[in-house]
Amino acid sequence: MFELQEGHRIMERAIRQFCEKEIAPHVEKMESGELLPYDLMRKMADAFGIRKMGKELLEKALAKAEEGGEGKEGKAKTRFGVPVSEEALDPMIMAVVGKELCRVSPSFALAFAASIGLCGQTIMAKGTVEQKRQYGIPVVTLDKVGCWGLTEPEAGSDAFALRTIARPKDNGYVLNGSKIFITNAPYADVFVIYAKIDRGDEAKADKRRIYPFVMERGIQGLSTSPPMKKMGMCGSPTGEIFLEDVFVTADQLLGGEEKTSRDQAKEVLASERTGAPFMCWGIIERCLDDCIKFAIERKQFGKSLAEFQLIQEKIAKMFVQLENVKNLAFKQAWLQKNRKGTLEEFCAAKYYCSAAAVEVGLEAIQLMGGYGYMKEYHVEMLMRDAKLIQIGGGTSEIQILNIAKELFRKAGKEISLAG
Ligand SMILES: Cc1cc2nc3c(=O)[nH]c(=O)nc-3n(C[C@H](O)[C@H](O)[C@H](O)COP(=O)(O)OP(=O)(O)OC[C@H]3O[C@@H](n4cnc5c(N)ncnc54)[C@H](O)[C@@H]3O)c2cc1C
Repeated sequence: MFELQEGHRIMERAIRQFCEKEIAPHVEKMESGELLPYDLMRKMADAFGIRKMGKELLEKALAKAEEGGEGKEGKAKTRFGVPVSEEALDPMIMAVVGKELCRVSPSFALAFAASIGLCGQTIMAKGTVEQKRQYGIPVVTLDKVGCWGLTEPEAGSDAFALRTIARPKDNGYVLNGSKIFITNAPYADVFVIYAKIDRGDEAKADKRRIYPFVMERGIQGLSTSPPMKKMGMCGSPTGEIFLEDVFVTADQLLGGEEKTSRDQAKEVLASERTGAPFMCWGIIERCLDDCIKFAIERKQFGKSLAEFQLIQEKIAKMFVQLENVKNLAFKQAWLQKNRKGTLEEFCAAKYYCSAAAVEVGLEAIQLMGGYGYMKEYHVEMLMRDAKLIQIGGGTSEIQILNIAKELFRKAGKEISLAG
């Protein structure tokens, strides 16, 4: 349970090779916004044969669903609606991919995960065959860039207090509102937007009536901001989405109106949370590798830094953090695979790993001194990127509140995040 199996190691080596050869040389340009990450994502998926194979499998699965034939595949386990083998469902494979991407560029990993994970997963999980074919397949096979819009200027941690309203009209809905901090929004082709359906005054205050709508760039009334300037994750464009009287047809409501999608949005947030330990693992592992190399090569007072005990302490403590984060990552993959795990376990893992990644990033800069502070040295970017993991997908404070809420609930006392 606590070590990579042969299949994981093969994947680790292959992805590392790809990242070093194909992604690393472009990180600087992605960070400055000169180069967008999307063509590189397609290149990566092509290199591993995922796009062609994925498209064929998805088309087959949809054709089967259209025929109404459940068949063997209908009962099989699926990922993005595609029947897949047990091995392909192994969360450790995705963990290794995420970890390796984050060693080189956490922002590349973020843009990738927001498109095929947050956006693609929502469409493939909730959509009809037609919605999957029109919007889902192009996103999960990377032909199109997707984004997932829940957060609003006035609704962040309190996400379900969102104000984007969908008013029923002429066999469809008219959407008004705005979204903020949305990964990929400035360049996305496909948008999943959460809105509250307003059928009357009482619905306005009802946090349960939250639904995802899917739409494409070019629809009248939808616009996006240029990429926002930010501290880290600079290779992943983040932006605002504005909706002014956007008319969508009823079939652009994912999953229909009967069942509220609040729980589904929570599931997506939960899956975002579960990615955190894998990302932090990559960031910490790379910081440690770079620091060991630097400490051996850099000489001060006639000796290499590695010979100073204060430097040894930093390296040893980074290793302790790495061990803890790796153990949590392995546990999380095991919990996911076995469909186990509690909310407090997942929140605790995100909370701990993101704090460890920030701490290690800062220590790595300190260990390298002035060099660590320079952009030329990778640890500076890793530290800034790590900070986002304490904010996105639920802040550290919200993880702590969730943990306490669950522990008290299990002891028979209900408490609320609203204090
Ligand atoms: C780079 C980036 C990418 C993102 N990508 C996406 C995306 O693709 N899609 C999307 O929908 N969203 C996205 N987000 C939004 C992200 O999920 C939110 O920023 C996050 O949930 C926090 O919301 P907020 O920024 O409004 O902070 P707020 O909720 O305003 O919080 C401000 C501070 O108050 C604290 N706080 C809030 N409530 C409480 C409380 N009850 N008790 C104690 N403290 C509290 C918070 O922990 C935080 O420290 C992204 C954000 C960033 C920065």
